[in-house]
Amino acid sequence: MNSGIICFDNAGRCIYCNGIVKEMYSINDNINEVEHNYASWLHTQTEHDNKKFRQTISVGDERRSFDISYNRVYDDKHNFICDYFIFNDRTEAVELLEYEKFRATHDNLTGLLNKEQFYEETANVVRNDRNHTYCLVCSNIKDFKLVNELFGIEKGDEIIKMQAELIKASSESGYICGRIQNDRFAVCMPKDSFKNEIMQNSIVSMQDRFNNASFKIRVVVGVYDIEDVDEPVSNMCDKAFIASETIKNNYETNIAYYDDKLLKRTLEERRVISEFEGAIEKKEFKMFLQPQVNTHGKAYGAEALVRWQHPERGLLSPFFFIDILETTGLIYKLDMYMWECAAAKLSEWKKKGDTVHYISVNISTKDFYLIDVYEVITSIVKKYDIEPKMLKLEITETALMSDLKKNMEVIKSLRDYGFKIEIDDFGSGYSSLNMLKDISADVLKIDMAFLRATENEVKGQDILETIISLGGKLGMEVITEGVETDKQLIMLTEMGCHIFQGYYFSKPIPVEEFEQKYMNE
Ligand code: C2E
Ligand code: CA
Ligand code: CA
Repeated sequence: MNSGIICFDNAGRCIYCNGIVKEMYSINDNINEVEHNYASWLHTQTEHDNKKFRQTISVGDERRSFDISYNRVYDDKHNFICDYFIFNDRTEAVELLEYEKFRATHDNLTGLLNKEQFYEETANVVRNDRNHTYCLVCSNIKDFKLVNELFGIEKGDEIIKMQAELIKASSESGYICGRIQNDRFAVCMPKDSFKNEIMQNSIVSMQDRFNNASFKIRVVVGVYDIEDVDEPVSNMCDKAFIASETIKNNYETNIAYYDDKLLKRTLEERRVISEFEGAIEKKEFKMFLQPQVNTHGKAYGAEALVRWQHPERGLLSPFFFIDILETTGLIYKLDMYMWECAAAKLSEWKKKGDTVHYISVNISTKDFYLIDVYEVITSIVKKYDIEPKMLKLEITETALMSDLKKNMEVIKSLRDYGFKIEIDDFGSGYSSLNMLKDISADVLKIDMAFLRATENEVKGQDILETIISLGGKLGMEVITEGVETDKQLIMLTEMGCHIFQGYYFSKPIPVEEFEQKYMNE
């Protein structure tokens, strides 16, 4: 027989047990020991004539699971004769089942709860424990895809596992910890247990564990205080992740808190992204022109500034979409579209006999990463048969500095081709002056706003004057933008600046309006 068996007579004495049972209790022949073990047990069984149950029993230093069936035996006249138990060892099957259950509810790689189980357990806790309010803390490794690409999936897995260990170790019992997706972890804990400073320190030490000279990762954490316990946990996690994504390259903190404004902004971003390509196709983006003029308001040319003529939302300023398009890498499509609009307009003017007015277009920092700027722009001027010097190119100094060596070469070849380069927002970046010795450009464009912001007006004016004369010495034209008052105009003229762009003369206006006002002179 593969099963263990024990028999007791009607007085509760053990009268027989087989080898399997003896082994279970490591007894030799003295079956009285078994009797001793079962006396009380037997007592509790006697209300039933038979019964099946599962029991864990220590065998040696192991815990093993048995399916036990209990039976009471009677003779023909219904006199009670004896009791017997049959033991079947189910340990392996039980372990397999538990393992499968574990596998179904936990993440393979880290052993933390998987997404579904995390959602379920979190929902249970926050809905049933009315004594505490909870928060969801979600973490996320910045640019984790890049880590995998640069260092391989194995290194990526190693980082994930280490992070999971640290999360397990640092979270007190009772916290629910799960791996939600790739490098995303979530912890649900009582709100008053969350301490910003402790969390910040443990993130920093977590980063330090990974980081070395050639390898840096950045862990960011979003926190969402659960208000509506009936909200799906997946939404709560989304909100915490949305918060974590707002941490850009601000190295002061790795923690951000969710609020409803954030959600609005994220939805706004998603809307822009989803509508963008269609809007390009439907030509909803319009080129506005803001004149660049002399002291008397006569236009040399204009800067092309984009507006989105949205079918539902009206005319949108670039403020609503440029940043979003830059972070998502869609900006080059808009810029190429705008360059083409400008080139088409210049070609139209050329045909009408106007070869005086130029148009300046903006080139975003990201364009240099995303497309071959030289190739695209030169083919546009060829296509529209215009002179390259009529299409001026505005590049911010931050864009130039991002990869100075490479960008210098691009700029040089564009200039050699005949384009005029304007350094936009000059003075707003970090290393303005130093950059001037490396980059050869044609125009310095200074924004008055930077100087308006200084507390010391006199110093600001001194700096402005110095930049204007420096530009002159370096053989560059200087344009001041953001000119709003005649006082500013007079001052700038005295300082030696001769080209202006600003609301004092005109806001950015539709092309037709520009043509009427500035080209019929
Ligand atoms: P920006 O290139 O520095 O453009 C100048 C901005 O200053 C424009 O804002 C213009 O309307 C505004 N401005 C001009 N004069 C004055 C003034 O006297 N006072 C004040 N307070 N503001 C003045 P806008 O059109 O809202 O554009 C904002 C930014 O969006 C631009 O700054 C540029 O960085 C970006 N942008 C606009 N169009 C494009 C585009 O086609 N491509 C790219 N990549 N960026 C663009
Ligand atoms: Ca500009
Ligand atoms: Ca500017």
